[in-house]
Amino acid sequence: MRGLLVLSVLLGTVFGHEDFVGHQVLRIFAADEAQVQKVKELEDLQHLQLDFWKGPTWPGSPIDIRVPFHSLQAVKIFLEAQDIRYEIMIKDLQSLLDEEQEQMFAFRAQVQSTDTFNYATYHTLEEIYNFLDLLVAEHPQLVSKIQIGKTYEDRPIYVLKFSTGGNNRPAIWIDTGIHSREWVTQASGVWFAKKITQDYGQDPALTNILNNMDIFLEIVTNPDGFAFTHSKNRMWRKTRSLTSNSLCVGVDPNRNWDAGFGNAGSSSNPCSDQYRGKFPNSEVEVQSIVNFVNHHGNIKAFISIHSYSQLLLYPYGYTSEPAPDKEELDKLAKSAVTALSSLYGTKYKYGSIITTIYQASGSTVDWTYNQGIKYSFTFELRDSGRYGFLLPASQIIPTAQETWLALMTIMEYTLNHPY
Ligand SMILES: [Zn+2]
Repeated sequence: MRGLLVLSVLLGTVFGHEDFVGHQVLRIFAADEAQVQKVKELEDLQHLQLDFWKGPTWPGSPIDIRVPFHSLQAVKIFLEAQDIRYEIMIKDLQSLLDEEQEQMFAFRAQVQSTDTFNYATYHTLEEIYNFLDLLVAEHPQLVSKIQIGKTYEDRPIYVLKFSTGGNNRPAIWIDTGIHSREWVTQASGVWFAKKITQDYGQDPALTNILNNMDIFLEIVTNPDGFAFTHSKNRMWRKTRSLTSNSLCVGVDPNRNWDAGFGNAGSSSNPCSDQYRGKFPNSEVEVQSIVNFVNHHGNIKAFISIHSYSQLLLYPYGYTSEPAPDKEELDKLAKSAVTALSSLYGTKYKYGSIITTIYQASGSTVDWTYNQGIKYSFTFELRDSGRYGFLLPASQIIPTAQETWLALMTIMEYTLNHPY
């Protein structure tokens, strides 16, 4: 154990990682609206440097906050003084990060094929981009790599296209990792890509889908943010663009879409983790997808994957007006989570974004839905609040496997319900 600690200190020093020694994640239970409001007050106290993993919503719904060591006492005293119940969800954040690094370090390997690629560990951007090339080289008839743009920091943005031919066939879109710290999502995206190549020609359902539709998969949807989670700050969520007249970096790419942009459920403060940006599509990572979707014009299902909370959500997030297809989306969500739960019993809730989590404006699937992509969904993968964003690598494959069942449900339904 000492050895691990020394190694992590060394790695931290060498790579200049932000460390999280003494940080805790508190899970807070606000019993009534007054207590919810009290916790919201904490959000405005910037000197505390709190990181809301799960923001305040309504009474009874847990609120998860990463609290730096220097603020721990103040926050705990505040909660106790207000008689607000909380428990310590993660006692020592840095030790979880050290374990994650250890695990990655132990399994780091240059691989020559997607068969020897380790799906049960987390990977860097370079490793994932290398994986894309291997997969394309192994299945040139089925998989191709498309560059849809370049990031703010000039990295290429790639989408995998799975297609058996045809001309601009109806298509399914899946993206993972638009919030960079949600590492189980990019890892699941890698697993989905391999799964598609394995199941085509073997699994009748997937074969049928790919004989009639194309699948587009963007695994690293926020490459700058993802690179930053590896090099500097594992807890980074936003893009890495600079905002004039602010020292704070980045925009929340899931508040930057042109759907209810600027409404409640996003922030105008560049230092907020929900900062929406100066205008819709200000982020090139978002604009690139917008261009792609508009240019393609035949996308029939759009699935954007986040973590954590175990939810399957559909529009809207920016308004409590029900989506015109609410009943159909609700039924489909129900069958998708039923399929998901059938594997390991993982419990999911489902519903519209605004009624299930909170008001969120400028989010991906509200925009895609308003473009006429009826089957627009957002997932929040595992877990429901033990490890949060630091899901142990041992859960990557089970998470991907169960999610795949839900994706198949949505894809099959889309195939069988043309519109
Ligand atoms: Zn997210």
